[in-house]
Amino acid sequence: MANYFQPEVECASHEEIRAIQNEKLVKQVKRVYENVEYYRNLMNEKGVTPDDIKSIDDLHKLPFLTKADLRDAYPYGLLGTDLKNCVRIHSTSGTTGRRVVAFYTQKDIELWEDCCARAIVAAGGNDEDVCQVAYGYGLFTGGFGINGGSQKVGCLTLPMSSGNTERQIQFMQDLHATILCCTPSYAAYLGESMKEMGITPDDIDLKAGIFGAEPWTEEMRRDIEKSLGIKAYDIYGLTESTGPGVAFECEEQSGMHINEDHFLAEIIDPETGEVLPEGSKGELVFTNLDKEGFPLIRYRTRDICILSRKKCSCGRTLIKMTKPMGRSDDMLIIRGVNVFPSQIEAVLIKSGYSVNYLIEVDRVNNTDTLDVSVELTPEQFSDRVRDLAAQEKMLANNMKIMLGINPKVHLVAPKSITRSEGKAVRVIDKRKLHD
Ligand code: ADP
Ligand code: ZN
Repeated sequence: MANYFQPEVECASHEEIRAIQNEKLVKQVKRVYENVEYYRNLMNEKGVTPDDIKSIDDLHKLPFLTKADLRDAYPYGLLGTDLKNCVRIHSTSGTTGRRVVAFYTQKDIELWEDCCARAIVAAGGNDEDVCQVAYGYGLFTGGFGINGGSQKVGCLTLPMSSGNTERQIQFMQDLHATILCCTPSYAAYLGESMKEMGITPDDIDLKAGIFGAEPWTEEMRRDIEKSLGIKAYDIYGLTESTGPGVAFECEEQSGMHINEDHFLAEIIDPETGEVLPEGSKGELVFTNLDKEGFPLIRYRTRDICILSRKKCSCGRTLIKMTKPMGRSDDMLIIRGVNVFPSQIEAVLIKSGYSVNYLIEVDRVNNTDTLDVSVELTPEQFSDRVRDLAAQEKMLANNMKIMLGINPKVHLVAPKSITRSEGKAVRVIDKRKLHD
């Protein structure tokens, strides 16, 4: 028997959802036009005013926002209300210089937590559950968002944060955790660690897991389900839109329901920006229908997926998105951290190395690995060939500072990295993240 946190929305008819979206969009565009100079300028450039927006059918008239806009407007340029009305910030993981900083009012947090609560109830959670939150707490949205949702459902919430695996397993056993929330790679790692410690799924009380913030395959889902003895649910979100809980999986485990009373989704052609019909594969674009602190309109996520209104057996009518099938930019997500090849290149240039490099990403024992091979110039090769290990360590350190994760650096002889005839191949991602 399916359960819902807010059935009046989760199971509303398409017409009801549309009515909510129409009303909220008209209000939101007015509010943003008045309060956000940056977006007002974009609208003026496009010759569109709030009066042109009468329903969601007019959405396509509005300008897009991209990550570049978020960087330009850093830190306060897209703030939708007085700073004194905001009570918290969060920030995206592992970016250089200008991070994305998102602001939240108390109402924004309430609505975000409702979205996370919907996800937890969809995974079978209720007030008798013990919810172990092993997402990071801090600037990262995962920990706080799920924590709030878990409390709304009435679960006993264990704010473990990430890491400290032995303590995670001890609390999981001693406090009888029934729901685990973390990244899929950490869930897999917990499963392996338990196995090494001789703990079987029968020794723990977990029944469900809610895993997201990074891509994972169906194969990985099956592995995790087996090693922890649970049903594993996907959850999607991004800091720019709010955090986890933008979309969540139900018992059908085939795509995630988007909380479309708060996040209006479109699919566009990433090359032309043209809106594509339902069922097409393209870039996901979100409009925050009621966010006050950081109300983004038509934000291009770079995530590629497909939307579908096909009837779901869980009874929810919220539109579904497929698992993201890759990204339209070159961002890699490595151990949950966003990494751009350009960041690695910047470190090499700053440290006086050539930009003939190759990034290799793999997943070994369910943990992401990052190897960077860097060619020495002929001069460097003759001068410095003796202290290679020290140089590799220094470069790895500089990259760690820039990226927030530890790579393995390999200095190689001049001309040993294969030159490509067309566009340089800088990244080889051996992980099979998209089925
Ligand atoms: P976080 O800090 O929560 O990782 P970011 O805003 O840095 O959030 O990253 C958001 C990106 O993470 C998304 O745009 C998407 O590419 C990826 N992502 C989040 N959840 C999932 C998921 N369930 N499956 C695949 N990719 C995901
Ligand atoms: Zn469903």
